[in-house]
Amino acid sequence: PVDEPLETAIRLTGELANYQGVWVFIEQREGVVAPVSLELLGAGHQLAKKLDVELCGVLLGDRVSDSVNMLYEYGADKVYLVDHPVLHFYRTETYMKVFVELVKRYAPEIILMGATTTGRDLAGAVATDLATGLTADCTGLDIDGKQRIMLATRPAFGGNIMATILCKNHRPQMATVRPKVMKMMTPNPGRQGVLVTPEVTLQEDNLLTQVLEIVKEHGEQVNLQEAAIIVAGGRGLGDRAGFQKLCFGLAEAVGGQVGGSRAAVEAGWIEQKYQVGQTGVTVAPKIYFALGISGAIQHLVGIRGSDIIIAVNSDPDAPIFKECTYGVVGDIFTIVPKLIEQLKEK
Ligand code: FAD
Repeated sequence: PVDEPLETAIRLTGELANYQGVWVFIEQREGVVAPVSLELLGAGHQLAKKLDVELCGVLLGDRVSDSVNMLYEYGADKVYLVDHPVLHFYRTETYMKVFVELVKRYAPEIILMGATTTGRDLAGAVATDLATGLTADCTGLDIDGKQRIMLATRPAFGGNIMATILCKNHRPQMATVRPKVMKMMTPNPGRQGVLVTPEVTLQEDNLLTQVLEIVKEHGEQVNLQEAAIIVAGGRGLGDRAGFQKLCFGLAEAVGGQVGGSRAAVEAGWIEQKYQVGQTGVTVAPKIYFALGISGAIQHLVGIRGSDIIIAVNSDPDAPIFKECTYGVVGDIFTIVPKLIEQLKEK
């Protein structure tokens, strides 16, 4: 039962060596697994291989068992499945209780979660309850083989340095990772694993929070993370009219999604949900256009997964030119309209 300590539970203060295995929290909504969880199975596979331990997916929800086979195909050796009506909607309280219970019962050495709204919330609650360390928003994960310790790398001091953080004296070691930073493995159809379905006691009546209604957001759904082409604009576009004309104009001509730098968002030219970068979304399109964007480190950390970056900037010393695949030094107000015109002719 969730609220009773189990005899088999390993004390968190006990031997670090009692903790084994890499766990990935499998985030799902209405039964659909979040792509970041599959990416983390890819990253977790590398860590598990170096540690010579198993990679486990932890799937919590209501009628979600259909996803189990997919998790094996994406690299999980084992899946812990807790399928219960009380887990229908994500609630910190229920998910945290069940997750912590599983950790105490099975003692993993590493836990990875997506740095999504749900993952960030759950990771913080779980780490607090277990009194262990959590490195948030990592961009790199590795193993120090000698010490059997996870090396979790993330931007620090406003993105000016990359810090590698170690959780030396506590287990499990926890990290959240942003979507699109890690690569999924190529699925191996028919690959099998071990399913574990731990018993937990959960009663709606015992919970402090109840979900009365889910109100879905109206308006355009933005999915920059999945976009193949992004046309992003920055302060160099001058004003809202310039942003509309050139950024939206080029996006329409190439069939891309519009994005913006923080400067464009703060100027009110585009909503915050379109912001790309450290405090916006991390993207990985095939083509990323940066129009009038200087290339501050906080912007660059969000676009490094792009296959091709095309920058247009009048300043030849703009940092974006050190990162881009193709750079055009010139005035956006001259170059971009010509580009739009030519693309429309084709
Ligand atoms: P600027 O840096 O002002 O650059 C404008 C560029 O336009 C210049 O390079 C200029 O040469 C060029 N230009 C001007 N006129 C023309 C023209 N006519 N033709 C061609 N080029 C022209 N920023 C983000 O974008 N995303 C984030 O998530 C983010 N998070 C942050 C988090 C923290 C903690 C901090 C401290 C900052 C963050 N920032 C973020 C802000 C970041 O540091 C920069 O201030 C911001 O990215 C600058 O936006 P910009 O490139 O549009 O503007």
